[in-house]
Amino acid sequence: MTIDGKVRKTLAELGVADVAGVDALFGEVRATMERERSSLVARVASSEGERDRLAKNFRDRWLARKNGLLTQIDEHWLKSSPRDLKPSVGKSFNALRQAATALEMDVLVKDVGFKIPPKVAAAGAAEIRGTDLGDLTLPGYCRPLGSLHPVTQMQREIEEIFLHLGFRIEDGPEIESVYYNFDALNIPESHPSRDDWDTLYINSQTVLRTHTSPVQIRAMEKYGAPLYIIIPGKCYRHDNPDASHTPMFHQIEGLAIDSDITFADLKGTLDFFAKKLFGEKVRTRFQPSFFPFTEPSGEVAISCIFCGGEGCRVCKESGWIEVMGCGMVHPLVLRNGGIDPEKYSGWAFGLGVDRFAMLEYDINDIQLFFQSDVRFLQQF
Ligand SMILES: [Zn+2]
Repeated sequence: MTIDGKVRKTLAELGVADVAGVDALFGEVRATMERERSSLVARVASSEGERDRLAKNFRDRWLARKNGLLTQIDEHWLKSSPRDLKPSVGKSFNALRQAATALEMDVLVKDVGFKIPPKVAAAGAAEIRGTDLGDLTLPGYCRPLGSLHPVTQMQREIEEIFLHLGFRIEDGPEIESVYYNFDALNIPESHPSRDDWDTLYINSQTVLRTHTSPVQIRAMEKYGAPLYIIIPGKCYRHDNPDASHTPMFHQIEGLAIDSDITFADLKGTLDFFAKKLFGEKVRTRFQPSFFPFTEPSGEVAISCIFCGGEGCRVCKESGWIEVMGCGMVHPLVLRNGGIDPEKYSGWAFGLGVDRFAMLEYDINDIQLFFQSDVRFLQQF
């Protein structure tokens, strides 16, 4: 049922019997209002007259004293609401009325564009060249500003730490060859990640990259050693979306290659990074693991930032949260990148930026990042 249908019914008829239901219902009204307003503001009317007519129709739809949507909400939801719900309906209705001031004609008319007829435009330009500039002391029109997406904010924060350590940022193509995505990274044909259940193939030789690691090889070919880079970017996997998976996600990869690089450098750098990002009290734990492109390989966990290691819901009572994979770059991978493993060694790590943002902002569903819901995004 559309909002127009719902405002003609009472709360009881709509089956709304508690505060959560009231909140959801008013949330829907607000979203509809915003959507309609945005699409109106995005229009360019063919004349000033048409603009005024569009604005007036929209204003009347919501605010007309007789039969406007707000009047009907007042009538059918507020006045007839059960006593226990009245305070919450009243509060939501007042907030709605407040928001609806943006629908008054004088506000709307400023925001809806219209085409200026050529003659008038020329006259206007002449006016500016001439004497009458109008009242320059009037305030300008204010447009709502957006902000950086939480995942971008997290990415920048991580980049910042590594830039201070002397790393530089490198990127590469999201549509990648099977060679760079798998073969050059020592991932054999038989490895399960190469299956088309896991990887999105464009054709037999081209994939949507499943990790940012192919850029390791590209950067080694381009710059040789020594090399200190981080590689942020989007990756793609054949995953069904749920609270912890989306088919597109963000990674940051780190790579350091130099003479005499050891596992101690890796541990030191990642421990420093974790403390910079999550606070001085955070401890790190390294556990052996396996990746085809590193040897030895490890999983890094940090002491739980929510309970300090005592055990809680987020760390599943373990006191630790696994945050990334890492290891010493496999000699074959160095060789594939044109670097002599007898002379140079290196370490690498990879982490999920979305997952870090979920930890940082205490978000329990990764899908929220990509649904473009302003109610979620405007909290950042
Ligand atoms: Zn915990």
